[in-house]
Amino acid sequence: MADTPPIPGSTYRVHDLARPVPPVVKPAAEDGGPPSDAVVLFDGKDLAAWEGVDRGPARWRVERGVLEIVPGAGNIRSRALLGDCQLHLEWAAPAEVRGDGQDRGNSGVFLMGAYEVQILDGHRNDTYADGSAAAVYGQFPPIVNACRAPGEWQTYDLVWIAPRFEGERLLQPARLTLFHNGLVVHHGRALLGPTLHEAIGAYAPHPPRGPVELQDHGQPVRFRNIWARSLDL
Ligand code: MG
Repeated sequence: MADTPPIPGSTYRVHDLARPVPPVVKPAAEDGGPPSDAVVLFDGKDLAAWEGVDRGPARWRVERGVLEIVPGAGNIRSRALLGDCQLHLEWAAPAEVRGDGQDRGNSGVFLMGAYEVQILDGHRNDTYADGSAAAVYGQFPPIVNACRAPGEWQTYDLVWIAPRFEGERLLQPARLTLFHNGLVVHHGRALLGPTLHEAIGAYAPHPPRGPVELQDHGQPVRFRNIWARSLDL
């Protein structure tokens, strides 16, 4: 179709038959399951895909297909390093409600080990907005509170675009799109920097890929079905 217009920013024309077609990826039999190109981080069996943040073994509990935080064991991180990615994980706050605010069902998922999406029992639990479940911790509350009750399984599906650096200079901030239990709660959110407690981190150059890190905040939050797809191939 040599008579069709060129596509801006591309070497192809509209409807170009020379343009490669998308690779085939087999989706899971059920929604939420890992597709054929996923990096499976936790499938219910063991912690082989994880290590402790101190590079020792990950010392969380795996029982009946579920990963549970052992309070005091410390954060764990994936051995796989990811840049731009899609990430799916399922989590549940403890069914037995204890504590309040940030001390109730608190954990978190740190993209690249530095940028935290908050995990918290956000069901009838008052806390500061930017520390809510699904918040970019310390920066942006989610658009809505989509939390299920404590003990119930919840899903995060996110698209992460890693920050870009040129030398010491930030070219492009990290961007996050997040679905919580199927609801959009962040859409192309530009992060202000690494997330911190009572502060906002300053962007500093780091490798283009990093681990997915899960937080031990002292409460036995549970996880299952964790997988990612790299988007920067
Ligand atoms: Mg947290």
